[in-house]
Amino acid sequence: MKSRFMAAVCAAVVALSLGVHAQGKGGAASITPAELKDWLSYIASDQLQGRQVYTEGLGLAASYIAEHLKEWNVKPAGDDGTYFQVVKVNGVNVTRNSSVTVTVNGQTKTFKDGEGVTFPANAGGKQTVTGQAEFVGYGLSLPEAGIDDYKGRDVSGKVVLYVGRGPKSMPAGGNRLLGARARNAIELSHAVAAIGPSIGGGFGRGAGAGTPAAAATPPTTATPAGTPPATGAQPAAGRGAAGGGRGGANATLGDFTTVQRLDNKIPPQITAGDEFFDFIFSAAGQKYADIKAKADSQDAIPAVALNNVSITINVDADYTIVQTRLTRNVVGIVEGSDPKLKDTYVLFGAHYDHIGYQQTPPRPASPQRPQGAEAGGGFGGGSAPGGCTGQQRDTPKAGDVINNGADDDGSGTVGVMAIAKAFATGPKPKRSVIFVWHAGEEAGLLGSRYMADYPEVPLDKVSAQLNIDMIGRNRCDEASEANTVYLVGSDRISTELHNLNEDANTSLAAPMKLDYEFNDPADPESIYTRSDHYSYASKGIPIIFYTTGLHRDYHYVTDEVGKIEFSKLAHIAQLVYTTGVKVANLDHFPARDNKGPRKGKGASGKIGS
Ligand SMILES: [Zn+2]
Repeated sequence: MKSRFMAAVCAAVVALSLGVHAQGKGGAASITPAELKDWLSYIASDQLQGRQVYTEGLGLAASYIAEHLKEWNVKPAGDDGTYFQVVKVNGVNVTRNSSVTVTVNGQTKTFKDGEGVTFPANAGGKQTVTGQAEFVGYGLSLPEAGIDDYKGRDVSGKVVLYVGRGPKSMPAGGNRLLGARARNAIELSHAVAAIGPSIGGGFGRGAGAGTPAAAATPPTTATPAGTPPATGAQPAAGRGAAGGGRGGANATLGDFTTVQRLDNKIPPQITAGDEFFDFIFSAAGQKYADIKAKADSQDAIPAVALNNVSITINVDADYTIVQTRLTRNVVGIVEGSDPKLKDTYVLFGAHYDHIGYQQTPPRPASPQRPQGAEAGGGFGGGSAPGGCTGQQRDTPKAGDVINNGADDDGSGTVGVMAIAKAFATGPKPKRSVIFVWHAGEEAGLLGSRYMADYPEVPLDKVSAQLNIDMIGRNRCDEASEANTVYLVGSDRISTELHNLNEDANTSLAAPMKLDYEFNDPADPESIYTRSDHYSYASKGIPIIFYTTGLHRDYHYVTDEVGKIEFSKLAHIAQLVYTTGVKVANLDHFPARDNKGPRKGKGASGKIGS
């Protein structure tokens, strides 16, 4: 078997060196549907076995990409002059010494981790965080649904507290929204920490972001109550590697798995029990039992001022690495033309891994069996994917056990290849452009989180990151979506970047319809946190995420090359390329005004200053 795979790679390399690839003028026009199809037919073939992290199939994909980069004269930008950055995935044991100290009207009480409060397994580096307590009810800001617990409040620099599972008017898909409360309090409202109840689905870190659970399984099943996985941590054993195909790998050891630095200071996201909240609310002369009863019946929760409550969080955990597994990012660079600006960068990214293969034949969807309930499904909760209401999956071909990932994210993989070729064989912009094919996205954003913590170039020299994940289809296979691409995050960190992308689109011979629905903070899929761009955005780098949305073949054996819309794929790659050229030629970095998401459902166009 092994030699047959190698023969395939050799054949591909020989074909290249025989001059199948003609050196054109480069640029956007060099991005063609025919070439994208050619590359994707290999990347998403059964030979690559679904490209699961740590497998032979992923290695074949890495070699294929690297050989093309070499052919186009894209320079290596990985470790030691190679095209590869080794990603170390550590299994870590934790010794918990963290605590929360609450001062109420001069009276003090300390709750240790595991005794009334629970810190994530990966609580980050040691630090002490202090702030005034601010109670924000259900902790939700969903103005479109008529819910805004933050209205009229400034929680900046404070410790946010929230309770419950949302009011009766919670929109569909509320679990991700509940799971995002702590993260949103910190990222959007600039709280220094967040404390929520230790009931399922209602707490913070990891409940929605980048854990394997978030990437591939329903959030409701992902996290046992009271033990939220940390950002950058996955509960052991890579559960997100849905679909099997682990190839006899060892079970993951350790309390959590991470690729990130363990000394990173992370804003605390903590869950707490009744005793903790009892003490907090005693300050305001309120009984927590009354508030809890209202929360349990999803009634309106009264505002409670906690003026005399201050909270000190002492993050103190010791970590021991007990296992390391290795995978690789593929990294290439085209140097900029400006002697001053060439030491600054625009990053382009996609993930080249997928979820592997089913070790047993997948069960077809049936009316009795909600879609996505099987391993590798990923829609969760019986709901249809991304709002594709009423759609059923195709019955797979008999014996088809391979999740080809043609759209996810074979489409982005070949899209970034085309962009790299366009830069390498075309005009050079002032800044350098770097291309990263991330490994292990499906297992918890492994490759991008590693790159963001151990970058190959200094992050403060990175002007923007443009990420592509699933750009080869029409959302829910709707023909009306043929010219639509969804943009997420473009306006959150840099308004200027958003506007550059709008200008790039207008400059295309045939502009696309840019849709910001998934950028809406009330979007139930929390897409902003669910692909590799989020690893860079978390470091303050402006990003744009390009996707064509979910469909019924998502994370299923039927995500195959035959279903890809190659002209659309080429068109979006041209848009990303054109935006990249604009950013790379700018004499300054796109300004980071951090105004958060403004373009949402139904919005379009540039944002005025
Ligand atoms: Zn993906």
